Amino acid sequence: MAPVIKLNSGYDMPQVGFGLWKVDNAVASDVVYNAIKAGYRLFDGACDYGNEVECGQGVARAISEGLVKREDLFIVSKLWNTFHDGDRVEPIVKKQLADWGIDYFDLYLIHFPVALEWVDPAVRYPPGWHYDGKDEIRPSKATIQETWTAMESLVAKGLSKSIGVSNFQAQLIYDLLRHAKIPPATLQIEHHPYLVQQELLNLAKHEGIAVTAYSSFGPASFLEFNMGHAVKLTPLIEDETIKSIAAKYNRDPSQVLLRWATQRGLAIIPKSTRPAIMASNLDSINFDLSEEDIATISGFNRNIRFNQPANYFPTEYLWIFG
Ligand code: NAD
Repeated sequence: MAPVIKLNSGYDMPQVGFGLWKVDNAVASDVVYNAIKAGYRLFDGACDYGNEVECGQGVARAISEGLVKREDLFIVSKLWNTFHDGDRVEPIVKKQLADWGIDYFDLYLIHFPVALEWVDPAVRYPPGWHYDGKDEIRPSKATIQETWTAMESLVAKGLSKSIGVSNFQAQLIYDLLRHAKIPPATLQIEHHPYLVQQELLNLAKHEGIAVTAYSSFGPASFLEFNMGHAVKLTPLIEDETIKSIAAKYNRDPSQVLLRWATQRGLAIIPKSTRPAIMASNLDSINFDLSEEDIATISGFNRNIRFNQPANYFPTEYLWIFG
């Protein structure tokens, strides 16, 4: 049995899933279909990834061929920043469900705690960060409370079984918990040995919120955006210490990085279009690192975060995010 994490909503979430960011539209259907064949059951999608239609086609093919039933899958999607206004949440979720070709999400997350002015999906979809599709940032006045209340109504209406948040830090989670009628089931965060976030994990554990790690290999995901600190750091899968730990267990460095996260209790969502890598990432759950090796890897921490909204904006807008 593949390991699952019990959510505070009562549902089981697979601990190892498959991420869908940067999976090209041309291959997304086949990639999802092949990932289901390889044994993945959780898919981590988002409006912003721009490939929900194709991912849904991969799911439909797997279901029509009898590989899985809908209830065997755990499909995650996310609310984009331009849909935070309370009355915009349900319509966009219904569009996203229609794109996937399904009638409920297993988990729906607020992608970022950043509210931007609504962009009509008929004008541009996915809308991205900029109001004009170029460089204009237009904040919306929606508060997290307003958005979360609308998220809660998705559960009541059967549009998502569980709801959660992503890229939230401690203060915002505490604030959310003050007014939430349904607490977030999960928190999805950037998490790798350069960004260990022990205090945030402690908070989540204390509040019964499951944590999913993204960008488990650290800078690897951000090199193409030419972010200075990503370029300057040693890729974690090439690090000599990680490599020597991997050799000890006769495993790949990538598997060590993934297992470090799952042994810390997190869910993981790596992606690959190559079947051998898909299988290797899924198999990372099938060995155990020693406590000493886990501590050595945690010792890499440098509090370096690659995925920050401010990275996507011209400097004159940085004040918006402090
Ligand atoms: P990733 O872990 O999927 O991969 C980073 C890079 O490493 C990719 O180029 C990938 O192809 C490659 N890779 C994957 N497995 C490998 C292996 N075994 N050996 C060598 N290279 C390997 O990183 P990611 O895309 O940053 O994150 C994973 C998922 O997390 C995304 O697909 C997305 O679903 C989610 N995500 C969420 C947010 C958010 O804001 N909530 C942000 C980023 C990513």
